[in-house]
Amino acid sequence: MAYDKTNIFARILRGELPAFKVYEDEASLAFLDIMPQAKGHTLVVPKAGAEGLLDIPPDALAGAMLTTQKVAAAVKRAVEAPGFMIAQLNGPAAGQTVFHIHFHIIPRWEGADFKLHAREKAPEAELKDIQAKIVAALG
Ligand code: AMP
Repeated sequence: MAYDKTNIFARILRGELPAFKVYEDEASLAFLDIMPQAKGHTLVVPKAGAEGLLDIPPDALAGAMLTTQKVAAAVKRAVEAPGFMIAQLNGPAAGQTVFHIHFHIIPRWEGADFKLHAREKAPEAELKDIQAKIVAALG
C-alpha cells in the first residue's frame, strides 16, 4: 500500500487536527492515545511519512526509538506504573488501524487486564490531567 498522507496522524503532525501532545522534537511527536488501553497510553509518531517498520528510513527509526525511550520513562513516572510495554503494529492483519508508523507506550500493572484495541474515548479532563503529569515528568 502506498503511504496515504491524509491519514489521521499525518493530519495531527501537520497541525490540522488537535492532540494531547506531551513531547515534540525534530523527528517525532508524542501524544496521548484518545482511546487508551491503559492509563497513560501514549503514542510516539515519527514525522517521516512511512506506513510501518519496513518503510521508515533507518535514521528516522533510530530517532523515534530514542524518543520512545525518553517518553516512556516520563509516562512510567507520571502514572506510577511498575511496568510498560511498547507495541508497534504492521498491516491490517496485525491490527494496524492508522497507516502512519507509531509506537504505543502502554503502562502495565500486574493483574490489570488490557485490551489490544480499546474502543472508548477517555474523558477529556482525565486526558488533560495525565498530559500535564507526563509533561512535568519530562521536565
Ligand atoms: P494502531 O491500531 O496500532 O494503528 O493504533 C492506532 C491507535 O490510534 C489506536 O490505539 C487509537 O486509539 C489511536 N487513535 C486514533 N485516532 C486518534 C487520535 N485522533 N488521537 C489519538 N489517538 C488516536
